Amino acid sequence: MAEFISLRVAYDRLTDGGREGNAYNWYRRDAQRSGYISLGQGSQLTTSGPIRVTVHKAGRQWMVSESDFENALAERRSVAVELRQITEDYENRRLAVASGQVRTTWGGYSVSRDFHFVWNDMDAYRRRSSGHWRCNTCWKRAATEHEKPECHTCSDWGGCGSECTLSGIVCTDCGTRKDL
Ligand SMILES: [Zn+2]
Ligand SMILES: [Zn+2]
Repeated sequence: MAEFISLRVAYDRLTDGGREGNAYNWYRRDAQRSGYISLGQGSQLTTSGPIRVTVHKAGRQWMVSESDFENALAERRSVAVELRQITEDYENRRLAVASGQVRTTWGGYSVSRDFHFVWNDMDAYRRRSSGHWRCNTCWKRAATEHEKPECHTCSDWGGCGSECTLSGIVCTDCGTRKDL
């Protein structure tokens, strides 16, 4: 038979006594609105969705199944470990995915064939740099060619926010190139 704990008890376990993470009311609103609480994103390397635990109301209290909640907590911890591993692998020049985007502790990268676009959240936030392309083989910063005509937004208003003129990515070190 399933054992249930109150959302408040779950919250204390989740946040180590309320010292970190979202406020209690944030989870209560989550419960009210959707019938579950969200404990963040699932694994980046599998297709698992957000980590969720179903809640139900007993009288005036929100309750969760203790085993479901503990499983979700364990999943959350393994996602944190995975994030650190992806970050460490990147420092060692190993990409975690063959294509598509992953997060690291400092930002993230997006792999597109022989190159990847890497960015730093802080640089993006301070508008110092939105990121740059790197060669997957030699890890050198790639040169970009901008020979496409700019899009309507750019010609009319200036700055569509995407690299609409990007026509090619070239590694001057190994000669690898990608035309867009
Ligand atoms: Zn544009
Ligand atoms: Zn290269």
